[in-house]
Amino acid sequence: MLTLGIDIGSRNSKIVLFDSETWQFIDYAYASTDSSPLVSVDRLLNDVLSRSDVTLSRIDARVVTGYGRKLYQQEARTMSEISCHAAGVVYYYPQCRTIIDIGGQDSKIITLDGHGKVLDFAMNDKCAAGTGRFLEMTAMRLDCPVSGISGLAAKATKERDLNSTCVVFAESEIIGLMAQNVIPADIARAVHNSIARRVVAQMTALEFGSPIVFTGGVAQNADLCFCLGRALGQDIHSPPEPEITGALGAAILAIVK
Ligand code: ADP
Repeated sequence: MLTLGIDIGSRNSKIVLFDSETWQFIDYAYASTDSSPLVSVDRLLNDVLSRSDVTLSRIDARVVTGYGRKLYQQEARTMSEISCHAAGVVYYYPQCRTIIDIGGQDSKIITLDGHGKVLDFAMNDKCAAGTGRFLEMTAMRLDCPVSGISGLAAKATKERDLNSTCVVFAESEIIGLMAQNVIPADIARAVHNSIARRVVAQMTALEFGSPIVFTGGVAQNADLCFCLGRALGQDIHSPPEPEITGALGAAILAIVK
């Protein structure tokens, strides 16, 4: 059986084509969610189908998730991001107890029972601090691509944190640090420490256990993963392509009718 998982996120759309016989994904595609998310999704779908030489008629089921899931008009079930991220993470880490998912505009903590069942979750979608948006603003200020912030922060010479709890004030604080000649690497690390502190505060609202898995587009940032692990006093795991975990979970959940 072939299934499709579609995750229409606030920043990026992702598609995964999954084969339930081999229990592997055949291919995936990932692109910025532009002003017409459905056009982006159609383009991704065509890319994945043509690369894998699969026709649309061979797809048995599809599940769509993410911020823009209600926009999707074609035949598909919609499922929550919580269920899909959990299923995607459990594919790699069956015993996972806690998921930290940070996307472009929100962050979620999901607790599991160690056998794949979701127990509880906490979501922050009201405040940009602690989300990918904060890293995008930092990248713009430091004149560096968002994919380069991790490498920059890894060269930090001094541990700092930011005092501001709001991205608007944090931006002013970053401008102030730049004016004091604080090096970009130390500023990038300060932003990571600040995000890690916020995520840990969000986690304490729940009874969380280990192992902890970090996922979502922001989990591509290895230095932030390191800062989170340090703040929590334990190793944090991350799947190989953390940006597609939600779409992968959607494709897996599409197998069950
Ligand atoms: P959403 O599902 O909300 O669309 P994603 O899970 O795709 O969001 O995550 C988007 C965020 O991931 C961006 O805001 C950015 O901060 C971060 N990001 C994207 N690409 C990279 C990368 N190569 N390295 C580090 N962070 C990245």
